[in-house]
Amino acid sequence: MRKLNPLDFRLATRQTSRDVNRQIALNLIREHQPLSRADLARHMGVRRSVITTLVNELVASDVLDEAPVETVRRGRPPTLLSIRTADRLALAIDIRYSQTTLLLADFDGHAIESTAFDTIVSPDRLVGKITVAARALLSSGKRRSRCEGIGLIVPGMVDEASGRVLNAPQLGWRDVDIAVPLSRALRLPVRIENAPVACASAKMWLGRGTGASTHDFAYVIVSDGIGVGLVADGRVLRGATSTAGEFGHLPLSMSGPRCLCGREGCWEAYTSNLATVARFEGKSIGHEPGKPRRRGSSAAAVQSIVALARDGDVRATRALEETGRFLGLGLSNIITAVNPARIIVGGEITAAWDLLEDAVRDAVSARTLTAAAAATPIEPDQTTVSPRLLGGAALVAAPRFAMPQVA
Ligand SMILES: [Zn+2]
Repeated sequence: MRKLNPLDFRLATRQTSRDVNRQIALNLIREHQPLSRADLARHMGVRRSVITTLVNELVASDVLDEAPVETVRRGRPPTLLSIRTADRLALAIDIRYSQTTLLLADFDGHAIESTAFDTIVSPDRLVGKITVAARALLSSGKRRSRCEGIGLIVPGMVDEASGRVLNAPQLGWRDVDIAVPLSRALRLPVRIENAPVACASAKMWLGRGTGASTHDFAYVIVSDGIGVGLVADGRVLRGATSTAGEFGHLPLSMSGPRCLCGREGCWEAYTSNLATVARFEGKSIGHEPGKPRRRGSSAAAVQSIVALARDGDVRATRALEETGRFLGLGLSNIITAVNPARIIVGGEITAAWDLLEDAVRDAVSARTLTAAAAATPIEPDQTTVSPRLLGGAALVAAPRFAMPQVA
């Protein structure tokens, strides 16, 4: 049951029911594709004649492909429906503390071409540099006309309505507008999100599967910071002022290492890539105010620590296990607070999942309140393309599959 919001509702019209059926058809086709019209009718629980107009409209508007089955049987071959994705493009842009990456991908998340450069902290100059790089990626062939939008990922909290970055502690941005200037410069629609929300969107929209696995989960991304995207009942939980899910800045200790947000003991200060690197190097974790942070990529540093651990390096293995323990402590807070059906962990550290899984599990078991909560599935994100960039592509592709709001 969902309570009607008297301040935000749409009355159902004849068009609404058509839109709802259209979205149901699109989602079912994506889930089961390729499938025949007869099978679609069966999945929708309607007679085949009912879906004829619907499918014809979707094929005519280039949303669906309908191709004959390759068969040697005699007679008219049956045709199968699938979502048209290959020639529909999205530009994903991932702004991280150390690097900014652009990826041109199709609507299924398949990578076409990417480019990267060191992040510039000045928003104006960064928009300028992104614009030049994006134009280069979109210049060849028919890419420009096929690109339907930009999914922009930022390491911070984003106001959903205005698209402004409310607070990006790693970059020192507060109330910064980067989406509108970028949209003007490239003349493409821009959807902006914080990284974990985008990663959660990619799992929800680009992934296959139904039920709790894609409707109730937490996506935890370990990077220069740590972010959490919460999905409940098929929706991203945002909160009243767009800061829901900021578990990275909940304290594990009131007197712990200093976080980039300026407070002490945040989960992020113990668990981020920066913490893992500092641990491995024998330095104190946490941010020292006034001391400039090193600009190098912490992602690359963690990848080499993982490689060393694989070679049997004890110091590297211990650093990863220690991060795993703190990762588990924070995950237990998520489990206790929102009790998700599963947790997906993304980031470079997941390449060492077999080395740190026991430490994660032990910490979760020690801090959760029931056996069922302790057994919450926790799995590393297995995607080969960066989950953040996939998330950027999903921001452009997903609205095509979302259910229209009714009442
Ligand atoms: Zn913090």
